[in-house]
Amino acid sequence: MNLSKKAEKIQASITLAITAKAKQMKSEGIDVIGFGAGEPDFNTPQYIQEAALDAMKNGFTKYTPAAGIADLRQEIANKFKKDNNLNYGIAQIIVSTGAKQCISNVLSAILNPGDEVLIAVPYWVSYPELVKLADGIPVFVSTKAENGFKYTIEDLEKSVTTKTKAIIINSPNNPTGSVYTKEELSNIAEFAKKKDIIIISDEIYEKLIYNNNLHISIASISEDAYNRTIVINGMSKTYAMTGWRLGYAAGNSKIIKLMSNIQSHTTGNANSISQYASLCALKHDSSDIKYMIKEFDNRRKYMISRIENIQGITAIKPQGAFYVMINISKLFGRKVDGVEINDSLGFSSELLEKEKVAVIPGSGFGVNNYIRLSYATSMENIKEGLDRIEKFINGIN
Ligand code: PMP
Ligand code: GLU
Repeated sequence: MNLSKKAEKIQASITLAITAKAKQMKSEGIDVIGFGAGEPDFNTPQYIQEAALDAMKNGFTKYTPAAGIADLRQEIANKFKKDNNLNYGIAQIIVSTGAKQCISNVLSAILNPGDEVLIAVPYWVSYPELVKLADGIPVFVSTKAENGFKYTIEDLEKSVTTKTKAIIINSPNNPTGSVYTKEELSNIAEFAKKKDIIIISDEIYEKLIYNNNLHISIASISEDAYNRTIVINGMSKTYAMTGWRLGYAAGNSKIIKLMSNIQSHTTGNANSISQYASLCALKHDSSDIKYMIKEFDNRRKYMISRIENIQGITAIKPQGAFYVMINISKLFGRKVDGVEINDSLGFSSELLEKEKVAVIPGSGFGVNNYIRLSYATSMENIKEGLDRIEKFINGIN
């Protein structure tokens, strides 16, 4: 069959694939520990669940405007003002089926065939594929572990061309857990101004930040940065609402309008019940969320201290989100039960096979020397999972 050449070049999301595999093994009665997808293990807070039930009972079960209900967009505008010191009118805001759809919409709205988009390596798995789907070319910007894998202007200068249309920045970062400082953001904003490129700022982990680090939106750096940035955010991570599929974007009203036009044909509006539930979530005082963040921080500290004590691996200390990247390259060339470990995929497959622990190979993020562990899972699982990883690594010779 002669199918779409473009579609055939798109890889399935490895984060979702491994998570689905671990869930499948569990349902078959296999005792798997999953460090796969970044999905909070907490249930959505009860007051949000109740708002969804009320929405259904009150008949909010119909189509809404494609860009989302006005009340929710207004509440999102209030959130931007309160948390990020950003002023947006509701014509500058769109609500979509997850932050994923916002990113897809914005890329479709701004790219012409052959336009290039700068992406830092390691990257979240979906960025390159979404760029390709929108007929753009992902341009991978190499970064350094010593610098927390963050863009430097030197690295960016090497990758920018006359075809560069946009840069994606993700802080706090998936998979590295790095957080950009105000100075670093100012440098990137200045670079974007000089090259006249659009900034796509994925801030979905904004609230998951530790060590008194502060989340700063690059859109708040200057008037120019405000005008050229589309901010992406959503409910999935902060409110433990991954399955509700609710994300939002804010920025230039012309781009937002194009995004809304595209969305009106692809999915129409985000789920109406999720929209009403999100309205309630954003209005509510966020004490349950503080509890979740504290818990993630405890797990983060525990994981780091355990990993530091396992011979042969080293961790990148995360400042935000809920992932730890572990360098496994010292184990390459060595064998477990006669099978040589040569890359992150090989390590991850053997670990799943032998010890029933699911992790994401760094190859999915463009870095083969690493694996990623999500600590959005219970402390009990983390302890057991790390015991098994330690046993697995001690068995490599
Ligand atoms: N951006 C990043 C960096 C992510 O890790 C995720 C996780 N799914 C998303 C965007 C998309 O989130 P969602 O579609 O669930 O809102
Ligand atoms: N973003 C999360 C992750 O990286 C969830 C899975 C996905 O959407 O890719 O694990």
